[in-house]
Amino acid sequence: TISMAVIDKMGRIAVGTSTNGATFKIPGRVGDGPIVGSSAYADDEVGACCATGDGDIMMRFLPCYQVVESMRLGMEPKLAAQDAISRIARKFPDFVGAVVAVNKEGVHAGSCHGWTLKYSVRSPDMADVHVFTVLP
Ligand code: ASP
Repeated sequence: TISMAVIDKMGRIAVGTSTNGATFKIPGRVGDGPIVGSSAYADDEVGACCATGDGDIMMRFLPCYQVVESMRLGMEPKLAAQDAISRIARKFPDFVGAVVAVNKEGVHAGSCHGWTLKYSVRSPDMADVHVFTVLP
C-alpha cells in the first residue's frame, strides 16, 4: 500500500491510498484501501492517518478514523497510533499492519505490529525526504 497524507500551506489536509491488494486475493475483493477511515482519514481540524497491512482485519477497526478521533480528544500522534494498533492486536495478535499519524501542526508518528514500518516525510523546511523507521 502507498498511503499518503498532505498538509498544504493553507492548513488543508488530504489523504490518499493506492494498493495492489492482498496476495492471492479473491476476485472482487475490495479490501481496506477505499474504505474511508480504514486505510486513510483526514480532518483539517485535527490531522490525518494512513495505514497499511492486513486490510481484511484492519478494516473492521477503522484504525485511521480511530487515530484522528483520538488526536481530536488530545492524544499525541504517537499515542494515538499505538492505541489504534493495540486495539487490533488485542483481538488479532497475529495481524500485520501499521499506521502513521500526523496532527495539523505536522507532528507525526507511526506504530506497527508484526513488521517494521518505514515511512517518509517531506516538509518545506527539509532539504530532502527523511525516512523514519518504527520497530514493532
Ligand atoms: N492493506 C492492503 C490490503 O489489504 C495491503 C497492503 O497494505 O499492502 O489490500
